[in-house]
Amino acid sequence: MTGPGHRVLNFMVLGALTRSVPAALFGLLGGAFPDTVEYLIWGSGRNRHHRRSSHWFVPWLAGFLFCFFVGAGGRVPTLSGLVGARAEAVWGCAAFWFLGCLLHVLGDACCGKVPLFVPWRKKFGLRLFEMSPRRGEMSRGEWFFVAFVTLSALGAWLSRGVVL
Ligand SMILES: [Zn+2]
Repeated sequence: MTGPGHRVLNFMVLGALTRSVPAALFGLLGGAFPDTVEYLIWGSGRNRHHRRSSHWFVPWLAGFLFCFFVGAGGRVPTLSGLVGARAEAVWGCAAFWFLGCLLHVLGDACCGKVPLFVPWRKKFGLRLFEMSPRRGEMSRGEWFFVAFVTLSALGAWLSRGVVL
């Protein structure tokens, strides 16, 4: 998926799940990181490594579980907690950043393959839609997918009430 697709999806899905704007925002910030880290580590040689170890769910899931349950005590971060600089809110934001990375991997698994148990083998994924052959451009399938999930999430979020 493209970067904008990941970011919109992460914000809306995590917002609908948690009704927390900080959680949604940090999910958005993590939304493109698994791709960004490939540029940081491998630079122009990244294509050989694309969607391999950086798209293995294990480190992202471990980071989320640790930050959420150990650091944040299982609590979703709130705006007031952040304003008060409470440690659990900061841990909570880190947790949702990791969850944003995890959602990125899931999003990519909807339009291709990502590793499952072995980080250098692409094993797991569906082809719900095709990616555009031009980098950074959203294909029609991706547009529909992102719009469908985003609008569903928006509906769920609104029906649960917007809570900051
Ligand atoms: Zn990716």
